[in-house]
Amino acid sequence: MLIEARGVHKTYRTQDGEVETLKPLDFAIRAGEFVSVVGPSGCGKSTLMKMVAGLLPASGGELSLSGRSVRGPQTNVGIVFQNALLLPWRRVIDNILLQAEIRGMPMAAARERAQQLVDMAGLAGFEKKYPWQLSGGMQQRVAILRALLHDPPVLLMDEPFGALDAMTREKMNLELQRIWMAAGKTVLLITHSIPEAIFLSDRVFVMTERPGRIDAVYDIDLPRPRSLDVMGSERFAALARSLRSHFFAKGSLDAH
Ligand code: ADP
Ligand code: MG
Repeated sequence: MLIEARGVHKTYRTQDGEVETLKPLDFAIRAGEFVSVVGPSGCGKSTLMKMVAGLLPASGGELSLSGRSVRGPQTNVGIVFQNALLLPWRRVIDNILLQAEIRGMPMAAARERAQQLVDMAGLAGFEKKYPWQLSGGMQQRVAILRALLHDPPVLLMDEPFGALDAMTREKMNLELQRIWMAAGKTVLLITHSIPEAIFLSDRVFVMTERPGRIDAVYDIDLPRPRSLDVMGSERFAALARSLRSHFFAKGSLDAH
């Protein structure tokens, strides 16, 4: 298993006392799998992702990546946050190459790879632009490319398309599916969009309100590659209904 959690839980210790955020979680994600996590705002999704990335210690349990226990920041993952987090004073290509600089990768090879990624993502011609000269969707693509530069086997994405308009978001979903299918990555995607989760995933984990735990796991057996048309299918609608039913009792998913 590529990502494995056994009894992983989290309680934040704050000045006002302890905040139990995640109940013990058990799950295993195999290499090449695309898994999404949906759940209400504040249920601990970002906390979970930071723990998998090794950016935040678990309060207990065992978390492993490629068979190795996660202790401290992981170098073999790519991370994409909700906002693109590009450096405004650096050009597109230099934002992508930041990854290489931080890791001390050989620059000539990194440049070549960055250019390949730019071409793949349809950003050719924009290498020398600054982030503010790009649309939100393009900025987000740059952030994804930066996460892919060192060719990590695992991509961790925390609501990466939250700030995008619906149409750009659908394009990004297609793009992400393409990258995932072409590059054979394992993806853990956090999203508050049920259609996005169903469209992209092999499996969807549904979490409860804080303290979060995994309430259900759905196998998404839609054939691949998936076109946006699949969203109109009976099977897709049935899956969406089932997933939504988890949130009816407590109101809908928060789109913060
Ligand atoms: P989500 O990503 O699902 O919205 P988070 O993982 O960001 O949820 O947060 C889960 C809960 O943990 C929230 O109630 C939040 O207030 C709390 N929390 C998150 N980070 C911290 C922190 N550094 N210190 C204390 N509490 C935190
Ligand atoms: Mg979050």
